[in-house]
Amino acid sequence: MTSSNPSYLIIGAGVFGVSTAYHLIQKYPNASVTLVDRDAYDAESRVAASWDWNKVIRADYDDKVYCRLALEAQEIFKTDPLWQPHFHQTGVYWTCRSAYAQNVIANHKDLGRNDDIIALPVAEARKLYGGVFDNADYTGVKEVLVNRASGWAAAGDALRAVTKRCLELGVSYITASVTNLEFDGRGSCTGVKTQAGGTLSASHVVVAAGAFTPTLLEWSAVKSGNPGLRAGERIVAAGITTGMAQLNEDQYQKFKDMPVGFQGYTPDEGKPFIGSIPPTKDRELKWWGSKIFTNTREVFPGHYISSPPPTQDYNQWKVPGPLKQDIVESRNLWYGPESAKWEMTKHRICWDAFTTTSDFIISPHSASKGLYIATCGSFHGYKFFPVLGKYIMQMLEGELAPELIERWAWDRQRPDSSQNVEYPNSEMKHLLEPAAKL
Ligand SMILES: Cc1cc2nc3c(=O)[nH]c(=O)nc-3n(C[C@H](O)[C@H](O)[C@H](O)COP(=O)(O)OP(=O)(O)OC[C@H]3O[C@@H](n4cnc5c(N)ncnc54)[C@H](O)[C@@H]3O)c2cc1C
Repeated sequence: MTSSNPSYLIIGAGVFGVSTAYHLIQKYPNASVTLVDRDAYDAESRVAASWDWNKVIRADYDDKVYCRLALEAQEIFKTDPLWQPHFHQTGVYWTCRSAYAQNVIANHKDLGRNDDIIALPVAEARKLYGGVFDNADYTGVKEVLVNRASGWAAAGDALRAVTKRCLELGVSYITASVTNLEFDGRGSCTGVKTQAGGTLSASHVVVAAGAFTPTLLEWSAVKSGNPGLRAGERIVAAGITTGMAQLNEDQYQKFKDMPVGFQGYTPDEGKPFIGSIPPTKDRELKWWGSKIFTNTREVFPGHYISSPPPTQDYNQWKVPGPLKQDIVESRNLWYGPESAKWEMTKHRICWDAFTTTSDFIISPHSASKGLYIATCGSFHGYKFFPVLGKYIMQMLEGELAPELIERWAWDRQRPDSSQNVEYPNSEMKHLLEPAAKL
C-alpha cells in the first residue's frame, strides 16, 4: 500500500476501535478498513470493557476538555437515530465531598450551556426521585450535584448497532486473536500476526486493544527485538468488579425512574467514584465496587506486567468472594440495609487500560512508523463513543488540535497518580489473600 492508497487495520472492536472505523469509512467510503477482535461483534459474551449492559453518559466533568467532548458526544446520543435508541436521559445524582459540583457548573457556564444542572444541600437532594437515595452514605458530603441532562446508554446494544452499521458501510470484521505486531526491515509496522498463524497487513495499524494493549506491545517488543514498543509506565491494565441485582415488581416500581448515582470521593478517602445505574430492560440494577486492581503476571518468560488473566474470557465471570464482598459494601453505600435482601444475578470483572491522569492515549507510537495507539479509557471512555473516532482520525491525519496532541500523546509529562481517585488502588492477588481487608 502507498500513502496515497491507505489501508487501516484496527486491533480491538471496543468503542475506540469501532468509532475509528465508523468515522474512517464515512469519510473514505472506498478505503480498506478492517477491525480485528478476539470476539465476534455479536457474541453472547465479550471481554471488551465497552461491551456491558449499561454505561453512564454524562458531561459532569470538572475538567473542561472532557466536559466539552462529553457534551459533544451526548448531543449525538440524544439526536442521532443510530445512537438515540440506546440512550436514557435519567439524570445524574452526584454526592460531592469536594468542590466538584461547583467546578462542573462553572465549566457548563463557561461553555455556554443552559442544562438543568444544580448543586443542592444534602437534606433537599435526598428527598428527590422518590427518595431512592435516602439511605445512601452522606458522610462528608458537602452538596449534591443534580444534572438532569445526563443519563446512561445500553452499552453493548449501542456497540453492536454501530459495528453493524460499519459493516454495512464496507468495514471488514475479522474474529481472531492478535499475538504480535509485524514490522518491515526498517522497523515500520506493516500489520499483525494472529494466533491461527495468519498475517493481516495495512499501511496504518491502530492498536485499540483496551486492557490487553500493554501485553500485546510487550509480546511485540520481545518478538521484534524493539524494546521501545513497550508501554512501560504509560499504560496499566486493571479490573473493577460490577454487580447486578434482579429487582422484583415492588422494587422495580421504586427504582425505575431513578437517576444514575455517583458517590464522589477525594484522594484522601481512597475510593474511586462509585456509581449505580438505573434498572435495565430486564430490571437489573447495576453498581460497581471500590477496588480497582492490577493483575501483575508473567506475560512472557521473565516479563512481568499487569494483564487480564490469560484465558479467552479474562476469567471475567469467575468473581472471587472478596470481590463480591466489595460489591456488597458498595451497595450499602447507596441503598442501606433493605438492599441486603436483593437477589444478585451477575458479577463481572471488567478490565480497562489506565493512565495516571485518566487521559487517553490517541497518538502515533514513537517507536514505529505506521503504528498508532488509541485506547486508555481509564474507567471513563465509553461516553465518548460517538466522537472518539473523529479525534482518532484527526490524529491519523496530523490534524489534532495542539491541546489534544499534548493531552493524549504517547510520550508526554506523566504526573504521579496520587490525585487520581480513579487509578488502580490494589493488586488482585493481595485482595484475594485470606487476611485481605476490603
Ligand atoms: C466496570 C466499568 C464501568 C465503566 N463505566 C463507565 C461508564 O459508566 N461510562 C463511561 O464512559 N465509561 C465507563 N467505563 C470505561 C469504558 O468502559 C472504557 O474506558 C472503554 O469501554 C474502553 O474502550 P476500549 O475500546 O479502549 O477497550 P475495550 O472496550 O476493552 O475493547 C478492546 C477490544 O480489544 C480486543 N482485544 C484485546 N486484545 C486483543 C487481541 N490480542 N487480539 C484481538 N482483539 C483483542 C478485545 O476483545 C476488546 O473487544 C467503565 C469501565 C469499567 C471497567
